[in-house]
Amino acid sequence: REKSRVVVVSNRLPISAQRNLETGKWTFKMSSGGLVTALQGVRHEMDFMWIGWMGVEVEEAERDGDHVWVHDYQLMQVPYELRKLHPNCRVAWFLHTPFPSSEIYRILPVRKQLLQGLLAADLVGFHTYDYARHFLSACRLSAPQEASELNNRFMSLGVYPIGIDPDHVAKTLRKPWVQNRIKELSETFAGRKILLGVDRLDYIKGMPHKLLGLELFLNRYPDWRGKVTLIQVGVPSRTEVAEYRDLGSQVNELVGRINGNYGTLEYSPVHYINQSISQDELFAIYNVADVCLVTSVRDGMNLVSHEYVAAQSEPRHPLTVTGDGGAPATRVNDDGPGVLILSEFAGSAQSLSGALALSRVERELRQHKLYRYVVVHTAAFWAKSFMHEFREVCDGQQESTR
Ligand code: UDP
Repeated sequence: REKSRVVVVSNRLPISAQRNLETGKWTFKMSSGGLVTALQGVRHEMDFMWIGWMGVEVEEAERDGDHVWVHDYQLMQVPYELRKLHPNCRVAWFLHTPFPSSEIYRILPVRKQLLQGLLAADLVGFHTYDYARHFLSACRLSAPQEASELNNRFMSLGVYPIGIDPDHVAKTLRKPWVQNRIKELSETFAGRKILLGVDRLDYIKGMPHKLLGLELFLNRYPDWRGKVTLIQVGVPSRTEVAEYRDLGSQVNELVGRINGNYGTLEYSPVHYINQSISQDELFAIYNVADVCLVTSVRDGMNLVSHEYVAAQSEPRHPLTVTGDGGAPATRVNDDGPGVLILSEFAGSAQSLSGALALSRVERELRQHKLYRYVVVHTAAFWAKSFMHEFREVCDGQQESTR
């Protein structure tokens, strides 16, 4: 089989640039997000070139032998445009968000053009069977006649759930300073249950729902006041869009209200971190958290939930003690895995109380099952299965046109 390059095309590059207005100097920062995490997880196993929005100069492409893997909803037209320029190009597209049901999809004025864009691909991939099914229904209802122009060919459709790099999580957690940080955090929050939320400040993540859920919980169960803390990371996102800024204000207001009503001099129910944090810090928090609360109202996959499960496979709240005569340090005080509350829609106060009261055996059983899934369905597994299928589909395409 020929060795060809893989070109990944997406709207978001893994680096964001910022210019200092006074000095005019540029600084570059790795950005966070599911696709960044997933592709980072396969960078040692797969050679690829990553083209972002500003770099899409299809006219100058030297591409015919390349496999072009286009990512996400912003670039739905790229397969069609590429195919027009290079009829024999090999192009696949993957969606990182949900595909709406056909009833919603058909409301879009540009529904035909978008489908036309995708129907020119060799392979189209989704995270779940539901999204693939929605796409098929949308094709049945809204596919343009003109699509058949380019369609003397087969397009394949597949389901490829994205994942993370669990080894990276485990390695990070074993770093000495991360272990120290875990110890510090365990001591800071000793005697309390730690709930954790890690989200981009995006309305799909249901952050107001989560905060309202916590507020209701504290209201209904006064015994838990002072005994439960939500650490919520809210990474600013699309701050140039008014709706996202409004969401930021709404979240600030809710955090203020909850801390005002239920906080004391020594206790804040919500620790809100309104910025992105380093991976070392993030993984340390994942490890000490008793509950990870994912309350997305819509979310393509959500890698935070995978990372939490991976981080819970390491002993929690480890305190190190050194044995007599310089014997190796041993870990003690591991109190078993935490619980993932993964909501398809809004999180509920009921599930909160259930998770906080689960027995250790029940938590261990759930963790074991989830962990097995996370370590098999990794980022590398996702990228390799997609690329394997992409190459197979293209080989089949070549056979049928011969
Ligand atoms: N993340 C990060 N720093 C932060 C917060 C989040 O690197 O301060 C990462 C997190 O580890 C995860 C990704 O951002 O890998 C978020 O991915 P997810 O699929 O949960 O959501 P998305 O942002 O893609 O909608």
